[in-house]
Amino acid sequence: MIYADNAATTKMSELAINTLINTVREVYGNPSSLHSTGQKAKKILEDARVDVASVINANFKEIYFTSGGSEADNQAIISAARLGEKKGKKHIISSAFEHHAVLHTLNKLEKEGFDITLLDVHENGLVVPEELEAAIREDTCLVTIMFANNEIGTIQPIREIGAICRKHGVLFHTDAVQAAGHLHIDVEKDNIDMLSASSHKFNGPKGVGFLYAKKGIALTNIIEGGAQEKGKRAGTENVPGIVSMAAALKDAASRIDEHKEILSKKRDRLIEGLKEIPHSALNGDDKNRLPSNVNFCFEGIEGESLLLLLDNKGIQASSGSACTSGSLDPSHVLLAIGRVHDVAHGSLRLSINEEVTDDEIETIIKDVKEVVEYLRGFSPVWRELVNGEREYIL
Ligand SMILES: *Cc1c(COP(=O)(O)O)cnc(C)c1O
Repeated sequence: MIYADNAATTKMSELAINTLINTVREVYGNPSSLHSTGQKAKKILEDARVDVASVINANFKEIYFTSGGSEADNQAIISAARLGEKKGKKHIISSAFEHHAVLHTLNKLEKEGFDITLLDVHENGLVVPEELEAAIREDTCLVTIMFANNEIGTIQPIREIGAICRKHGVLFHTDAVQAAGHLHIDVEKDNIDMLSASSHKFNGPKGVGFLYAKKGIALTNIIEGGAQEKGKRAGTENVPGIVSMAAALKDAASRIDEHKEILSKKRDRLIEGLKEIPHSALNGDDKNRLPSNVNFCFEGIEGESLLLLLDNKGIQASSGSACTSGSLDPSHVLLAIGRVHDVAHGSLRLSINEEVTDDEIETIIKDVKEVVEYLRGFSPVWRELVNGEREYIL
């Protein structure tokens, strides 16, 4: 079996599993309890906070633990909106291909009267900093642009975007769920005010993540209750999950360069091999992309059928993001980079990890080629293309 769906979720590392189990077993106290069992839990919780902060060059006081990336995105955006509102600023800038945790939160704010500008990400899947700068207005209270896209893997010019926001005094949030543990992040140098991350995308457990919010940013609660997380996120902390996440993040961060070297070679070989399939195209920039991400469109086929047949051959991939699969709508990310509906339907995302061998990469190439050819063999659309009754797009 070849698991090539690491953008949807990753397998927990042995380190993360052991840390989780040991913590569950040894540290059962409630960090809010004043007795020693509680204080022991409080201590490892705070140690985890220091570890997480150090990976992104933040201060531990700027880290808020959440239930994952979605919650962190929601809280960051709602907080910035509430702060903006107080000053009469109700304009937010984002991009057309953000994760739904961002886009749906923005939709909600739009219904409340916020004005939302979604920047074009162009054919290469990249925001143009000059276009961002041109979109900033007197009443802009937030720019939220993802660090790396979960479907096509493109990496945004985050430092430049952050610098523009700082120059104009606008808060900058980035959904770094695909980047944390995989790319170097320095919230100081990268000019980031708020950042979301999720443990299960870097070999940690599911249902835990964090929000970084720069000192001085007053967060709005999404969950009301006790005074946990400096009163900004109620609920007894998921101590084992948090401690395991911190271990996974530190470990992942220490291997970024090593992994980049290994993965980008495999990624480039995959791209080279799949490009040989006629009437296919790589989605997103070929250089500015996560070392783990390959995303293609193949004309004349249905992505879902491709996935099922690949699964039968032991290759697990995705046609877009896990969140939109099951719906018949083509990926909003592929539409945002200008793929038309027909073509966007025939997409394949392979998100690899460092465990995939070179032989397995060749197997993937061979099997995808075979399955695409097989599916085209009985595709009415493909027949029309071949017969010249329809024009090739790719
Ligand atoms: C997975 C993902 C999320 C959601 O994170 P959860 O922890 O699953 O809630 C948000 N943004 C991006 C870019 C993601 O890839």
